[in-house]
Amino acid sequence: MSHQYHMGRREFITRSAVVTAGLGVTAALNGLALDATRRDIEEAAHKVGKLLRHRLGNGKREISALVGASDWAPEAIEAGILCDINYWHKAQRWQKPTTGTSAGQRGFTPTAVLKNREAYYCEVTVDRVRGSHETGEIDEEGFYQFVKQALVRSVLHYFDDYKFHFGYHTVAEWKNNRGPLKAYERLKKEGLVKHLAISQHSYNGNAKVPGGESAVDMLEAIIDEGLYEHAQFFYTFGDGDPMEQILDLARRKGFGSIVMKTSRGAGRMKEDPEFMKKFPADASPHNVLARWLTTSTKIDAAVIAIQDLDQFVDTYSGAGKPLRAADVRGLEQMVAYANQEVCRLCNQCMSHCPQQLQIADILRYERYALDYHEKKAARRFYGQLDKQADSCTECGACLPHCPQGLRIPEKLAGAHRILG
Ligand code: SF4
Ligand code: SF4
Repeated sequence: MSHQYHMGRREFITRSAVVTAGLGVTAALNGLALDATRRDIEEAAHKVGKLLRHRLGNGKREISALVGASDWAPEAIEAGILCDINYWHKAQRWQKPTTGTSAGQRGFTPTAVLKNREAYYCEVTVDRVRGSHETGEIDEEGFYQFVKQALVRSVLHYFDDYKFHFGYHTVAEWKNNRGPLKAYERLKKEGLVKHLAISQHSYNGNAKVPGGESAVDMLEAIIDEGLYEHAQFFYTFGDGDPMEQILDLARRKGFGSIVMKTSRGAGRMKEDPEFMKKFPADASPHNVLARWLTTSTKIDAAVIAIQDLDQFVDTYSGAGKPLRAADVRGLEQMVAYANQEVCRLCNQCMSHCPQQLQIADILRYERYALDYHEKKAARRFYGQLDKQADSCTECGACLPHCPQGLRIPEKLAGAHRILG
C-alpha cells in the first residue's frame, strides 16, 4: 500500500518554515560550514515534495520508499527530513549535537529527529568483532555493548531497527549461531531496540570465507524461518531471476525488503558524454532509477547513495512517479551499459580464480570511486585487500562464469589504475 502527497510551493515553504523555526534550524545553519543555504535546502525539498511511503513487510510501519542514510551531505539530510524521509540507515554514526552545532552539520544527530523522536525510524547496524565482516566473529556481548554505546553517543534513546550488518557466511552459521538474535532479545527487553533486521551480503567464492554461500541461499533460509522482520540486500536493474525470486518469497511471507547498491553505474553514465548524448533528453539516470525502484519493482524501499543536494533533487524527485516512455527507453540503455561495464557483484566468478582474487570487492570499490566519487575510501578499502588487481594473470578462467560476460581482466586492470 502506498500513498503520495502533493503540496503547493507556498504550503511547502510555510510548513518548512514552521518545522525549521521550531527546531532552531534557521539559526543553527547560520555561520556553519554548509555549502547550501537554508533557501537552497527548502528549494530542493520543494522540488522533491513529500516522499511516498510503503508498508515494510506485513508490519504496521510505513516507511519512505527511498530511505535516508546518516552519511549523506548534511544539507541533503535536512532536505530529506523536510521531505518526510522517516527511515534513517546507520543512525549509530550520528553523535550528540554540541553547543553551536546545527541540525544539519555532518555527523550530528539531526535536531528534528531528537525533537520528534517517535516520527523517525532510526537503525543501528552491528558488525562482527575482532576482524572484518569476512574474518570477524559473531559476539553477543560485543553486539549488545556496541548498541548501548551507540545510544549514549547518538542520544537517540532507542534504535527502532537492530540490523546484523553483512549477515551470515553460511546457512549453517545462521542455524547454529544465534548470537545476533540473543543480543537483540536482551536489548529489546531493556526497550533499547524494537525490530530485528539483517543486511545480507554474498560469501560464495570468497577466499576468506571457506564454504561461504550466496545471499540468495541465506535469504531463502532467513525469510523461511521468519525470525527476522526485514532485510537489506543488493538489488538493481538487470539483476535477473534469483533476486526476483527472493522478492517474490519476501512478498509471500510478509517479509520486508530494503535494497542497496541500487545505482549500478548510474554515476559514471551521467558523466559519459557519449552515453548521455543518446539518453532521452528529459530524463536522467538517477531519476529513472528512482522511478523504477519505487513504482515498478517488488521492493518495499531502497537506499540510494547521495553526494550532494543536486543529486538529492535529481534522484528523489523521481520517487513515486511512473516511468514515462522516455524513462523506459532510458532504463533499457542503462541496463545495456551496465551489463557491459559494471559488475553486478554476484561473486559467481570468484571460486574459479586461481589467484583467489576478490574480484567482486575490487569492482565494488571501483564503483565507489567512479559512481559515488568516494575515491579516498575506495583506495583505502582496496589497499586493505590481500591481493590487488595487478595479481591477475589474465588466464581467463573466470570468464565463462560471469553472467554478464564482463571482460574481467580488463576491468581489473582499469580498477587498479584508479585505486592502486
Ligand atoms: S583472468 Fe585474472 S581474475 Fe580471471 S581467473 Fe585469471 S587471474 Fe583470476
Ligand atoms: S565479474 Fe561477473 S561474475 Fe564476477 S562478480 Fe562481477 S558480475 Fe559476477
